[in-house]
Amino acid sequence: MAKIFCIANQKGGVGKTTTSVNLAAGLAKVGQRVLLVDLDPQGNATMGSGVDKRKLALSVYDVLLESASVQEAAVYAEKSGYHILGANRELAGAEVELVDLERRDQRLKEALAPVQGDYDFVLIDCPPSLSMLTLNGLCSAHGVIVPMQCEYFALEGLTDLVNTIKQVHANLNRDLKIIGLLRVMFDPRVTLQQQVSEQLKAHFGDKVFNAVIPRNVRLAEAPSYGLPGVVFDPSAKGSVAFVEFARELVDRISTM
Ligand code: ADP
Ligand code: MG
Repeated sequence: MAKIFCIANQKGGVGKTTTSVNLAAGLAKVGQRVLLVDLDPQGNATMGSGVDKRKLALSVYDVLLESASVQEAAVYAEKSGYHILGANRELAGAEVELVDLERRDQRLKEALAPVQGDYDFVLIDCPPSLSMLTLNGLCSAHGVIVPMQCEYFALEGLTDLVNTIKQVHANLNRDLKIIGLLRVMFDPRVTLQQQVSEQLKAHFGDKVFNAVIPRNVRLAEAPSYGLPGVVFDPSAKGSVAFVEFARELVDRISTM
């Protein structure tokens, strides 16, 4: 049965999508069957996996509104090595359309149930907000992976996210927990980043993943080629770090 993880952080531009596509590709590379769900109307994870969001016949929007199944709407991103349930601007409308519907926060969970046996991992790239879309992600998941930059306000932002996860855990999804914090865009030459990194380890202990993703321009360039960095330039430092992270996650799951 698939482990279902949200990649979440309510801040924008912290590396959620970069983590989603590269973790998906990294897991595929180490032999895991992966479905990536793009829950952000920006559709960056879709494009970054090599699937044109403007040409999607069906998307996660149709799945949330129950006019398509995951099997029907997911496509195989051949070069990336995983399936993607894509998103585009249409998804922004789902927020409003779901409001009056029953089980509006359970739609994704129910849609994923029939495909759980088809994958080892389902990763959900969340939008940068605590919207109905993110709530659908959190209600579906066994855990949350939090990418974060080691900057001054990082810990403060984390408190809000941790509280949200606690609330969802208490009221909506007893399975939900934080799987771990992933340090991304890390630059060891910056003293402040080292300090925040140490603070993180002091506060969260082994919830902080050992793998560290460095700031690496190849990871930023890869989306314009419609590829995860891990596939675009496998020998780049950032790509190597993401494959290492994928291995660490597989190990961590086996002891969970
Ligand atoms: P989010 O999904 O949280 O909004 P993104 O993954 O889109 O964040 O990342 C924001 C920007 O930072 C993007 O332009 C991305 O290419 C860049 N970026 C993310 N991770 C790295 C990294 N490790 N090294 C260099 N650039 C990165
Ligand atoms: Mg994003």
